[in-house]
Amino acid sequence: MKLIIASNNKGKIKEYKEILEPLGFEILSQNEAGIFMEPEENGSSFAENSKIKAKAIFDAAGCAVLADDSGLVVDALEGEPGIYSARYEGIETAEGRSARILEKLNNVPDEKRTARFICAICLLLQDGREISVQGSCEGRIGYGFRGTNGFGYDPIFMFGDHSFAEISADEKNRVSHRAKALEMLIEKLKGIDL
Ligand code: IMP
Repeated sequence: MKLIIASNNKGKIKEYKEILEPLGFEILSQNEAGIFMEPEENGSSFAENSKIKAKAIFDAAGCAVLADDSGLVVDALEGEPGIYSARYEGIETAEGRSARILEKLNNVPDEKRTARFICAICLLLQDGREISVQGSCEGRIGYGFRGTNGFGYDPIFMFGDHSFAEISADEKNRVSHRAKALEMLIEKLKGIDL
């Protein structure tokens, strides 16, 4: 069954291909499917945004679509940057957005620096059936930038003693919010007729 991933991010597409092709899906990026729209993500939760994206592309393409929405939730900032993670406070760069979070947490003690990455996935099957899941990964905001792997907020997100930018891609892919959401999706897919 043809399945469009609502993204053109090579890393994301590769990860989804590796996991979903063995289940019998033929994976296409948005560009490969000839869909060049960028639906406005104007929902009020990760789950809503993933569904808005999936539905818009499903309506345009008429085949199965998977969309995800992810971001960082910082408890001491009342959940910010949350669904605004990619455009937090209008700051252009990932480094700038991370620096702003570190600045806002200046003087916040260790035990109040809790945070989590969240990933919501919405899969709309060809016949309109919807499968939605959400995975998360708990950690803390560090005190500076650490490591050079990964992307986005990885250098300031401490998972145990290491930041997400200090661990290998393999390790991150075992514990991340996206990995957890994908595990849940696969479990749900096992139980249904495709
Ligand atoms: P999107 O779900 O691809 O739109 O990602 C939203 C934003 O959340 C990204 O631009 C990143 O800033 C942040 N983000 C999501 N997942 C991760 C991650 O695994 N590491 C670091 N930042 C992430």
